[in-house]
Amino acid sequence: MEEEVKRLNFLEEIIEDDLKSGKVESILTRFPPEPNGYLHLGHAKSLCINFGLAQKYGGKTNLRYDDTNPTKEDTEYVDAIKEDIKWLGFQWEKECYASDYFDQLYEWAEWMIQQGLAYVDDQTQEEMRENRGTVETPGKNSPWRDRTPEENLKLFREMRDGKYADGEKVLRAKIDMAHPKMEFRDPIMYRIKHAHHHRTGDKWCIYPMYDYTHGQSDSIEHITHSICTLEFDVHRPLYDWYIKTLGIYPSHQYEFARLNLTYTLMSKRKLLELVQKGIVSGWDDPRMPTLCGVRRRGYTAEALKMFCEKIGVTKHDQLMDIQLLEWCVRQDLNARSNRYMVVQDPIKVKLTNWPEGQVEWFDCPLNPAEPEGATRKVPFTGELFIDRADFMEDAPNKFFRLKPDGEVRLKYTYIIKCNKVVKDCNNNVTELECTYDPTTKPGGGEWRSVKGTIHWVSTDFAKEIELRNYDRLFTLADMSQVPEDKDYKDFLNPDSLTVGKGWAEPALLDDASGIAVQFERTGYYIKDADSTKEKTVFNKTVSLKDSYKPE
Ligand code: ATP
Ligand code: MG
Repeated sequence: MEEEVKRLNFLEEIIEDDLKSGKVESILTRFPPEPNGYLHLGHAKSLCINFGLAQKYGGKTNLRYDDTNPTKEDTEYVDAIKEDIKWLGFQWEKECYASDYFDQLYEWAEWMIQQGLAYVDDQTQEEMRENRGTVETPGKNSPWRDRTPEENLKLFREMRDGKYADGEKVLRAKIDMAHPKMEFRDPIMYRIKHAHHHRTGDKWCIYPMYDYTHGQSDSIEHITHSICTLEFDVHRPLYDWYIKTLGIYPSHQYEFARLNLTYTLMSKRKLLELVQKGIVSGWDDPRMPTLCGVRRRGYTAEALKMFCEKIGVTKHDQLMDIQLLEWCVRQDLNARSNRYMVVQDPIKVKLTNWPEGQVEWFDCPLNPAEPEGATRKVPFTGELFIDRADFMEDAPNKFFRLKPDGEVRLKYTYIIKCNKVVKDCNNNVTELECTYDPTTKPGGGEWRSVKGTIHWVSTDFAKEIELRNYDRLFTLADMSQVPEDKDYKDFLNPDSLTVGKGWAEPALLDDASGIAVQFERTGYYIKDADSTKEKTVFNKTVSLKDSYKPE
């Protein structure tokens, strides 16, 4: 038999080479979120890659908050990010903050000034933009470019000490205003921002730019492989330049394709807008692609990891089918979720030959994959609910559920026969008069089989629950293709949430599994935190079946 050889992805190849050649002894990766929003499914991919590689090669991963933008950042996000990473099952080595390096970064900036490698520029934003040139034309030197190191140092210290207003001055690296790579045309290192920082408080009123921060932060921590998404590849030369110029530990950056999903938006800015405008109930609305949202929806960490494993790591952008993620959720839940019966659109069934007042309790497996495993007790009585869709009056031959004069098995229990259909004045079926066959009790007597098996609940014992059914939040498959004259909010699905009711077997309300359960024959649902003593709420995680099959 041919053995299936799993090919290494390009990052694994790089790491194996680096370990083999002795370039690094062990690997250290980092996950660098900006604490300006909640983590989403795209971040899950980045987490799986960074933590996954470290785990595979016996290395470690730091959690580093990229917190250089004080006005957008908040400790609420810092805490939520940690919770989400732990939920995915990853444990970071060190918890770091770019802001912990502000003193070091400042010192390096003074050193660069002294070396004639940085200068304070007084141009307005507008002037800087104009003088930057274009890809075809070189830029123009700033009139302030030739200040002496002494003057620059004095001005930079004054910037730090709060002498200037926001935007009045910046510190720039002195590289080359005609450089073919635009990023090298004297990039800004520091800007003035009189803003309170969630960690450093009011200590600073100048903040370092991303490019002046990220590589050095990696270097300070001795990150061996700094892995980010493709849009950062234009930043890599500058990343390398700062590290080389400062002569510090040579971390290296590698880029992979970001995750894009059909019918899904993953920009934190837009997700924040949905929250702020009340279009969703919060960051953890079960329709949100955030990790707290999908968790509340009932997706499991195991399913997300399975999904990330399946999509792999590539170097070109791709739109992944959300159905693959749903498929992974189904796979995981099918294997381990508890089963219960819930009727959503009931018709009453009366068993005319059932002894008045009798209750029979059936021991039913919680998970059919473990027939010897735990069970739940399900009460059977003479009045039941079945789902309207499981009965048909003028049924075609192929309809194997309940029909007039037909038989069906009530799951785990008896075969019943429909003898009479009761209707109201509008010709709607209100009740079915049936008889049960006492000889067909499973485990007793002779096994008689019928083609159909349907779920049911006892009306005497059924618990009414609220069901929140979710559909895609957006109607456009590729949300990167929103036409220019439209807004992404024009593609919101008005039916993304529909609220219904269900009647559940009583054991459902005592389920303590902590993960989504299967409502037999319909779908997976998870109890929501909105539940109260009076009303239990379930979120629909995913339907039971789908024609989708992964390639
Ligand atoms: P957004 O555009 O949603 O605001 P971001 O890139 O600004 O995302 P960060 O907090 O800076 O968010 O991201 C932390 C890490 O997660 C970065 O390394 C980033 O490359 C990665 N990341 C962000 N979005 C995705 C995605 N869709 N797929 C894979 N990785 C992602
Ligand atoms: Mg970012």
